[in-house]
Amino acid sequence: MRVSTKYIFVTGGVTSSLGKGIISASLAKLLQARGYSVTIQKLDPYINVDPGTLNPYEHGECYVTDDGAETDLDLGHYERFLNVPTSQANNVTTGRIYQSVIDKERRGDYLGKTVQIIPHITDEIKSCVAKLGTGGAHEIVITEIGGTVGDIESLPYVEAVRQFRYEQGRDNVLVIHLTLIPYLSAAGELKTKPTQHSVKTLQSQGIQPDILVCRTEHRLGEDQKRKIALFCNISDEAVIESIDADTIYDVPLLMKDEKLDTVVLDKLKLQHRDEPTLDTWRSFLTRFKNPTKTITVGLVGKYVELQDAYKSILEGLVHAGVENETKVKVISLHSEEINDENAAERLKGLEGIIVAPGFGKRGLGGKISAIRYARENEVPFFGICLGMQCCVIEYAQNVLHLDGANSSEMEANTPHPVIGMMEEQKAITNMGGTMRLGAYACTIKEDTLAHKIYGRTEISERHRHRYEFNNDYLSQFEEAGMKASGFNPETGLVEIVEIPEHPHFIGVQFHPEYKSTVANPHPLFINFLKAAIQHKEQVGASV
Ligand code: GLN
Repeated sequence: MRVSTKYIFVTGGVTSSLGKGIISASLAKLLQARGYSVTIQKLDPYINVDPGTLNPYEHGECYVTDDGAETDLDLGHYERFLNVPTSQANNVTTGRIYQSVIDKERRGDYLGKTVQIIPHITDEIKSCVAKLGTGGAHEIVITEIGGTVGDIESLPYVEAVRQFRYEQGRDNVLVIHLTLIPYLSAAGELKTKPTQHSVKTLQSQGIQPDILVCRTEHRLGEDQKRKIALFCNISDEAVIESIDADTIYDVPLLMKDEKLDTVVLDKLKLQHRDEPTLDTWRSFLTRFKNPTKTITVGLVGKYVELQDAYKSILEGLVHAGVENETKVKVISLHSEEINDENAAERLKGLEGIIVAPGFGKRGLGGKISAIRYARENEVPFFGICLGMQCCVIEYAQNVLHLDGANSSEMEANTPHPVIGMMEEQKAITNMGGTMRLGAYACTIKEDTLAHKIYGRTEISERHRHRYEFNNDYLSQFEEAGMKASGFNPETGLVEIVEIPEHPHFIGVQFHPEYKSTVANPHPLFINFLKAAIQHKEQVGASV
């Protein structure tokens, strides 16, 4: 007998940045390990239709799914933890909700009624949640509500949860509230009052949370847990401690120790099924914590002040580091601070260099200088999206000596647009959702580095860019030594370039970082690190 879908909502209290995404992903992991099919959804209370138009400084990286949705970076955590792809349905913003309601209003779907937050916006929110459960696609849907309870913009979401719980029945809908128990060092005490207030706010909006997950720097005593339970109307076993962890990958096991999964199953009246062993996860963690080597790689980009801007790349390096039993130290390098004169000094000691994705002219010169250094000094190089485009520009300028060669994104009137815009893209004026987005097939040539890395000729990777390698210049590049090793089978667009004479020089037009997971570290990252390890051994040996 198939059980009807169960829904879990995760709200946040006291402050933002408590890690709702990691808690949601960890709970999903535990339930998945017991054999449940789980998906996670993020509802974001901002008015942008998607985060695609947001500067990374605002909201961190924009994560892209196979179906080409530009989404919140939490979806990256969901995929990295669960190893199951997400889609547009897994990330909904207030902007998207309103857009859909307004479209319906213009079509006349509301039959002359006044369109209001309640019921029309709340109905739309509920239908976005229910959509993931219907058709039996998932037994459990976890919906994370962005923002903090008490924010004006969260109100319609909280109201939608209240109604949804009434409509679906209490046994089918659970609310987990993630909160903070701050430690006052002057008093030497953990304080529960902010949590009590935050729960009261939720209660005043008609929701009694079922489970409290309490972020804390220090262990909560039984008496504190009981106090929280008493004042927040929560059963004792449902006050879950979430102590600061060394790594986000510890969190599923910490949540298992706290029995979050069994409390959830009991409250939703679901069978416990198999006890999760999480063997693969544990072995990943053991290898992560016991590396046999250390290497240092440089990540060159212009958003380096904000770690979240390159989240998936950093996590991809973690996964691939574990695969190589290597601790990867990542040095973030601001591209605006690098030039041809200081590159050798700034980049010395790096065993590998990555040039990150990005948009616009700022810091372009530094990326090109870093690439030149890597190319000329045989330092393993890995260019991602803009990083690939920059290595094409660098080669055009310094090897092909094409004066003024550039991307037409950076220099509209460049005499040599080695990176240019496709005709179809030129007519588009809207910024949102108009890039080449999502999964595209790529055919890899045999006897290339790319083929050695992937071990096959047909791959699919995710894209997010407007500009492309200009095939008018392809033969010049190939004659000089930079080869195209991956092509889009339908359009012939160049997706991968490499320099066979260099020990490891590869640039990819797509974003492999979006597909690296704990269970499936990405081969491009694994092999880049292998080359970096080798470089370290060789340089070490020659000193
Ligand atoms: N700005 C470049 C383009 O639009 C690269 C984008 C990226 O790195 N994601 O083509």
